[in-house]
This record gives sequence, structure tokens and C-alpha cells, in this order.
Amino acid sequence: MQGYILKVTRAKNEDLIVTILTPATIHTLYRFYGARHSTINLGYKIDFEIEYTLGYMPKLRRITHLGFSWLKTLSKALIWQRFITLLAKHLEGIEEIDPFYFELLEKIAKKLAKQDAKRVMIESYIELLRFEGRLHTHFECLVCETPIQEDPVLVRAFLSAHSSCIPKRTFDRKKIEYAMRYADTQFLEDEEIEGLWQILQEGL
Ligand SMILES: [Zn+2]
Repeated sequence: MQGYILKVTRAKNEDLIVTILTPATIHTLYRFYGARHSTINLGYKIDFEIEYTLGYMPKLRRITHLGFSWLKTLSKALIWQRFITLLAKHLEGIEEIDPFYFELLEKIAKKLAKQDAKRVMIESYIELLRFEGRLHTHFECLVCETPIQEDPVLVRAFLSAHSSCIPKRTFDRKKIEYAMRYADTQFLEDEEIEGLWQILQEGL
């Protein structure tokens, strides 16, 4: 089967515990140090098998790394890994999962070949918020719970606030509204993308 490595943690004797996202399941598997023939890294898409042994954590076997050409571009690889780490935290403790998340990573991996990495992540995050029913396309202040008429401040999960309620940088209302509605960042400047990327990194 195929999956994305969400998390790698050290166990005893340099063995690894590897968390892998597949379409329907997040697997937590044991990888023996002695068995390492292929590299395991955060964000890798791999083909693999699971060996079940009664009473033990299932083992990760027969790994093939299904590489992406853009992984050689360090800046893209780092942004991808950052997003994967945030996603792993977001999905922590979940075992059975909707195929949306696997498909989202498939889509991101494809887009990264051609598009700006931070824009891809922000657009994908908007899709994730929408899927989870957490996307707010009309601006209401999370502090005073009244509508926002001016340019909104955005905080974690792209929630909005009045700049008088949360004194932080504001974003152009129309451009943000478009980006949220269509999961499309084409009208946003690089500087605005950087601002949104900073917010995204506070946690999904
Ligand atoms: Zn307010």
C-alpha cells in the first residue's frame, strides 16, 4: 500500500516508530534499525507492507520511496515538511481517517512541482478548513462577536477580528475574501502570503 510519512520517532536501539497516513488509516508501525535498507524521512511518500505479530506493534516492511522531483529543492522540501509536521499534530490520536487528508497531500505533492510552495500550502489549508467546517467566509470578530466592516486581522485557523480588538496586522478584506472563497491566492502579494504562512504555522 501507499502512504505519507507523518512522523518518525526514535525507539530503543535506534529503531524507529513511524506514523504513516494512508487513505483510510493512520498507521503507527515499528521499524527495526537492522532492517533499514531505504531511507525514511518525514513527508516521504512510500510504498510499504505491514507485518502483524500478535502482541507487538505491527512492523513496517518492504519500503520503497516514491520520490518527488521537487524534493531536491530545499526550500520546497522544508515547507512541505513543516506542513506535514503541522498536519501530524492536527491528526494526532486519530486512526481511522477520511480519504480527504491523503488526497489533499496527493494534490499538494502534484502542485509543488509547478507552484510556489507557500501559496500551495495556504490554498490547501483553506480547503482543509472548509472540509472540517471551520472556514469563515463572512468576517465576524472572534473577540466581540460583531461583524467586521474594515480590513480584518487574521489569527490562528484564519479566524478574523477587529484590529481594535486584536492589535495585529490587517489583511485586505476583498483579497482575503476571494482567497477563502475559491482557495486561490492569485490576488495576494508575496508579503501577504508570508503573513498568512506565519499564521498557518501557529497550528492547523
Ligand atoms: Zn471585535
